[in-house]
Amino acid sequence: MAILDGKALAKKIRASIKKEVDSLKKESIIPGLAFILVGDNPASQVYVNMKTKACEEVGIYSINHRMPSEISERELIEVIKMLNDNPMVDGILVQLPLPKHLNEEKIIETIDYRKDVDGFHPYNMGRLARGNPLFISCTPYGIMKLLNEYSIDVKGRDVVVVGAGNITGKPMALMLTNSGATVQICHIYTQNLKEKTKRADIVISAVGKPNLITEDMVKEGAVVVDVGISRVKDRVVGDVDFEGVSKKASYITPVPGGVGPMTIAMLLYNTLQSVKFRK
Ligand code: NAD
Repeated sequence: MAILDGKALAKKIRASIKKEVDSLKKESIIPGLAFILVGDNPASQVYVNMKTKACEEVGIYSINHRMPSEISERELIEVIKMLNDNPMVDGILVQLPLPKHLNEEKIIETIDYRKDVDGFHPYNMGRLARGNPLFISCTPYGIMKLLNEYSIDVKGRDVVVVGAGNITGKPMALMLTNSGATVQICHIYTQNLKEKTKRADIVISAVGKPNLITEDMVKEGAVVVDVGISRVKDRVVGDVDFEGVSKKASYITPVPGGVGPMTIAMLLYNTLQSVKFRK
């Protein structure tokens, strides 16, 4: 069994981004990323802080808009429009989830798709579905980079993606399909999950349920990617029972240190891409 070391690859990617940002600065171009955080969800605060710090480290200029949870939809839309028009801003990230009274779809659609570094806008999801992507959602993008780093070719392989969320599961399945994999997407209503995962060459779990994927559910030599993040007592754990599954897997991502760092690295990467597209 070998570890898919997302932490190490993310470090390499960040170093190469920093080099590119440094050379852009010689042309007086400073990439800018705007974060919008509504309310005081503790997990969201941690994520935005981590992303802000990552920007600082590579020299990307970040703007933080922290707003009270009572903000109206109209007010939030105004802020996004202002950022759409701001030439200093190359990327806009609205941290999800949003408070219930705000229509998430409407908010995402307000972001200029050319600054949608999260890749959540329907235009970007649509381009991915057509196999001609502009911005790709950071988590599945990071997973593809990680598989590529370890020379794991998905072409012709059977892949099961567990979780059909818009952030990971669905774009993941699209990316894999675009790369020639045969993909099955499973979700809460899937019957006999084990029957499906057991046949897969690659299992990617993006659910948020500890111990969902156990040793008896994977075949010998499978590649297992764990996207899930859950808090159990004081520990952060994934969806996969790492100890059991790692006995059978050929490659496996740890939690933490697997997919998480790659997600942040790809956000920086997408921001740099945005600068390049606009140049
Ligand atoms: P989501 O709520 O959008 O989707 C969850 C999916 O899981 C749904 O399709 C649902 O049908 C499915 N599901 C729920 N229970 C299931 C079960 N028992 N069996 C099979 N499928 C089941 O969630 P999301 O935003 O895609 O996030 C999923 C997990 O990934 C969360 O734990 C989240 O924190 C984590 N996440 C991690 C990263 C990272 O960088 N590591 C990035 C994004 C999300």
